[in-house]
Amino acid sequence: MPRHTLLSSQSDDDFDSRSSFDPGASFSEDDIPTRLTIPADGIPDDDGALRPTRIHEMIGQRDVYERILIAIDATQKRREPLGHILFDGPPGLGKTTFSTCIPRELGVSCQIASGATLKAPKDLIPYLTNAEERSVLFIDEIHRMQKAVEEFLYPAMEDFRIDLVIGEGSGARTINMQLKPFTIIGATTRAGLLSAPLRDRFTMREHLDFYPESDLALIIERNAAKLRVDISPDAAAEIARRSRGTPRIANNRLRWVRDYAVSRADGKVTLDVACRAMQMQEIDVLGLDRQDRKYLEVILRVFNGGPVGVEAVAHTMNVAPDTLVDEVEPFLLRSELIVRSPRGRMLTEKAIEHLRLH
Ligand code: ADP
Repeated sequence: MPRHTLLSSQSDDDFDSRSSFDPGASFSEDDIPTRLTIPADGIPDDDGALRPTRIHEMIGQRDVYERILIAIDATQKRREPLGHILFDGPPGLGKTTFSTCIPRELGVSCQIASGATLKAPKDLIPYLTNAEERSVLFIDEIHRMQKAVEEFLYPAMEDFRIDLVIGEGSGARTINMQLKPFTIIGATTRAGLLSAPLRDRFTMREHLDFYPESDLALIIERNAAKLRVDISPDAAAEIARRSRGTPRIANNRLRWVRDYAVSRADGKVTLDVACRAMQMQEIDVLGLDRQDRKYLEVILRVFNGGPVGVEAVAHTMNVAPDTLVDEVEPFLLRSELIVRSPRGRMLTEKAIEHLRLH
């Protein structure tokens, strides 16, 4: 059984370590904040202070937001478990934030697991048997679950039951165990890697897209207030412009600019301070960082602009292909700096021009 930590989600610092999950530690509906149960080896959260804890604090993604609100509202009125939800999209766009806000809105408990650590059905069993009625089990990186775990999950998602095999060899028997009706929320950067049967068991599938600069500027202004940073609107807009459409990156840039302002200026973040801080980190006018530019340069110089397979680029850069596919390419594709053809990745004229100028 995995070790769990109970987290009172109001304060991300407020950890209460226990050796095992205590099923009695449930909260009633109006008992806010909801308790999250997080495996001891769970999701690192270095953004705790800035992560919205309630859904109305989330900025942007209005279509997804409205659909989720309707699902929550209908669920509460019917007093049934919420249908299973799958969030997909590049890292840092709010999949975890949506997933952890939903149980808080419902006033139910939430367990958090990571697909990478679910290597065998037995790893999943404690989560399923601990799931309280209408509670949420959030599985991050659900595409990394082993096939056997995935198959074990099907009847749990469909009929809230699991088949347990007890004993071995000729003495083995299968016990059918009934679970409490609960909700799985899955998050993935690679929806394409999920098998069709697993994908089909999610009643809602929500794709999170990159944020427009106006939404990111709002996030930056709100978070600057939380961090007590004095920032000018044009500085917030500039950081937003250079944040690759991604709230997590916007938060990181804001933190760096704040440090720079304190160390190299009078603490106030003006447009000039923000630009100098980002220049020092080699973040260019499109928001590309060293790794993004190296990726483009390798394709240009080593592979004559492409087409080239991602493995070859990754090998030349000495990084994992998954890092490029998950973290680097989505924004470059979205910005029309690269295209993907059947023969591999190719730079666009826009990328070649950008590299020439910056
Ligand atoms: P993902 O799970 O998709 O990798 P997260 O949910 O962890 O991304 O988001 C990263 C951080 O970005 C959060 O901690 C939060 O501070 C910020 N963030 C993400 N989405 C939003 C949003 N819609 N509004 C405000 N902040 C957001």
